[in-house]
Amino acid sequence: AIYGSERPASTGPNLFIDSQATPFLQAVAQFHTTQWQASASINGQTPQTSAWQPVYAPWDHSHQVGQIAWSSPEDAHAALNAAADYQAAWAQVAVTERADIFRRMAQLMQTHLAELVALCQREAGKTLQDSIDEVREAVDFCYYYGARAQEISEQPLEITDLTGVIRRYQRQPRGVWVCISPWNFPLAIFLGQISAALVTGNTVVAKPAPQTSLIAYRALELLYQAGLPKQALHLVLGAGEVGAALTSATQVAGVAFTGSTPTARHIYRALAQRPQIDTPPVLIAETGGQNAMIVDSTALPEQVVKDVLLSGFASAGQRCSALRLLCVQEDIAERVFDLLQGAMAELRLGDPRELATDVGPVIDQVAQTKLEAHLTNLGAKTHILAQTPIPEAYQQQATFVAPTAIRLQSLDQLGEEEFGPFVHLLTYRANELPQLIQQINAKGYGLTLGIHSRNETTAAYIEACARVGNTYINRNQIGAVVGVQPFGGQGLSGTGPKAGGPHYLASFTHLVECGVGD
Ligand code: NAD
Repeated sequence: AIYGSERPASTGPNLFIDSQATPFLQAVAQFHTTQWQASASINGQTPQTSAWQPVYAPWDHSHQVGQIAWSSPEDAHAALNAAADYQAAWAQVAVTERADIFRRMAQLMQTHLAELVALCQREAGKTLQDSIDEVREAVDFCYYYGARAQEISEQPLEITDLTGVIRRYQRQPRGVWVCISPWNFPLAIFLGQISAALVTGNTVVAKPAPQTSLIAYRALELLYQAGLPKQALHLVLGAGEVGAALTSATQVAGVAFTGSTPTARHIYRALAQRPQIDTPPVLIAETGGQNAMIVDSTALPEQVVKDVLLSGFASAGQRCSALRLLCVQEDIAERVFDLLQGAMAELRLGDPRELATDVGPVIDQVAQTKLEAHLTNLGAKTHILAQTPIPEAYQQQATFVAPTAIRLQSLDQLGEEEFGPFVHLLTYRANELPQLIQQINAKGYGLTLGIHSRNETTAAYIEACARVGNTYINRNQIGAVVGVQPFGGQGLSGTGPKAGGPHYLASFTHLVECGVGD
């Protein structure tokens, strides 16, 4: 479990604790009108692609961020062939050399911090704080996986049997990996997957979410600048059909996927139905959550509300770890709900580039429509406790969704993950706690759980009964620091191994016996 308050130190920059804040904000503002471009990259070349298409910001549909040339399924096949051609050569490169490339990448991202922050704000609609955290996490992934890859290659696994014979095992790359990433962590998850696969000697074809292709392309340029051979990493840009072309191909040794649970199901099926399954690929799938916070009567209501605001509404609720279901013991429920109502009235929605903005837009119209439909579908059986209004300036030409706290009658009203700023509320009696945990488990997801209690026995009981990947006690339930708090779920929320943890790199490799001695 993760106790306490905020994130511990990370290797990335922390601008809000030093005196560099004002010059930094000015530096970010210099990129407020930059136009970025993105296209496929196969051996560093742009293939003959479709026409360039403009990309607009989710917080203002007339604000252009750049332009993109989308890829075709044929580009996906060409990229896979190129990755397969270079695989053996890349596997021969010393692990220290591969790790050095990612250390240089981490440094380059810090040099280009202002630009990357501006790009995350403008293309992904992330607030300033979220954008800084995004770059920090990406920096951490590059350093951490670089260091871990060296560690596992320098210390082969040794097993001594009962007769004293020592068997040594070393790790070898699996081959070509397809890395498919979501838009909600457009730099950190994109780079986390790629760095893990490349640093262990695999070659990669990456397909970022279409909504954040500009960020992915800029990261690719920086990686090439950091010294990554262009034949080791290839990029294709597009939506599901391009992803499907990649996962159904026979050259693929592994797929690292982060995204929704329904897409993970498609990919499972596609991998199982490949025409020649002589080497079944490995699938790492990190997926959605239906995350609860359980608050007992000993909890501090003010602390609970502070943590609910962050867990439910930061990043406009667009985090896999975000709070979806707040369950409060009835003795303190009215107090907590009253405070929550007041606090939600203070949230500020708006332009993510402005310092005062708490909540930015949702990513696009598809997401907005789906979220609005969820409220409509819940309909008369629910009561809206509080809803932060969308300022008039952002009601047209932008995709904002009002942060909403919704009182449910029962947990049955909650189905699949709704990826936005909605927190559903339930109350329970003390003697109903075991049944409540059982019902939450029965949803099948298992990503994060928040517990608020000053009773250690209750907190330990809830933690022991819940089936989740990460538990957060008396704090908000978003965020995990690479190398310190490995992150990932179980059940419908993911296959593991946890990202940013010591076992992650192992999945990208085969364990092979390398010698026998006394
Ligand atoms: P998504 O499933 O719609 O898309 C994810 C990626 O898969 C995108 O690149 C998309 O283009 C691609 N894709 C879509 N259909 C495909 C197909 N048939 N074959 C191959 N690729 C395909 O998810 P999203 O909307 O981009 O991201 C939000 C989701 O990601 C949420 O469900 C969230 O909970 C989850 N998420 C999970 C974690 C985690 O660590 N568990 C982290 C971040 C986000």
